[in-house]
Amino acid sequence: MMKHRIVNITFITTAITLALLSLFASVSWWFLGLSVVVWMTIVFVGSAWIGSNYHVKAYCSNPSEKQNKIAITFDDGPSEFTPKVLELLEKFDAKAAFFCIGKNIDSHPEILRQTIEKGHIVGNHSYFHGKDFDWKNTAEVISELVQTDGAIKRNTGKIVKLFRPPYGVTNPSIANALKVTKHHVIGWNIRSMDGVSRNENAIYNRIVKQLKPGAIILMHDTSQVTVNVLERLLLTLRDKNFTIVPVDILLGLKAYEED
Ligand SMILES: [Zn+2]
Repeated sequence: MMKHRIVNITFITTAITLALLSLFASVSWWFLGLSVVVWMTIVFVGSAWIGSNYHVKAYCSNPSEKQNKIAITFDDGPSEFTPKVLELLEKFDAKAAFFCIGKNIDSHPEILRQTIEKGHIVGNHSYFHGKDFDWKNTAEVISELVQTDGAIKRNTGKIVKLFRPPYGVTNPSIANALKVTKHHVIGWNIRSMDGVSRNENAIYNRIVKQLKPGAIILMHDTSQVTVNVLERLLLTLRDKNFTIVPVDILLGLKAYEED
């Protein structure tokens, strides 16, 4: 995206200027070293922080939402824990979004169908979600996105428009792939850390202290810890008069292509 290009051009211009200056005056190599460090830091932060919109535009909340509306999103399923999450959401009459991993859809297609039948939306979260995803080239990223879209279409008939990058990391390959696949990138602004921590109180408190209108909460339908935290969270959201809406409604986007 633009930001990455501007940063690269600025860096190259700085390097060339320093090289030219060194022809006429003694320029310390520290300046070049310093600009490399600054450049690497910007690229690293821009790639790792989805809210930076550094490589791609990511929808991480609806800042103009005035009412107490909030979206809950679940990544990395479908899994054996997804049905428990669906049951809880149904009890509280809440609709959420599930960003599914393609290979998990292939092992639990019935859970994906159940998710859609219960009125939730689903999105693409890559096919393998491997540690190497961020090192793949554009063609390989496209192939993963197409495979997962295919698995969702086969099982539900839906043509998915929403994508959440694994780990929230973006890079030029992903940005180029998205120009072809045309998915909208969905981020979050409340990270529960339920994939990292096993401490239910810590996860719950982390979410609750950040609650605000228009927020998007990130959770993972892959553990009992999340199921337990979700029940407490749904009670709290009800007490605080929050309405839980699917992320496409919160953002005013389309979750699927019309066919
Ligand atoms: Zn994930």
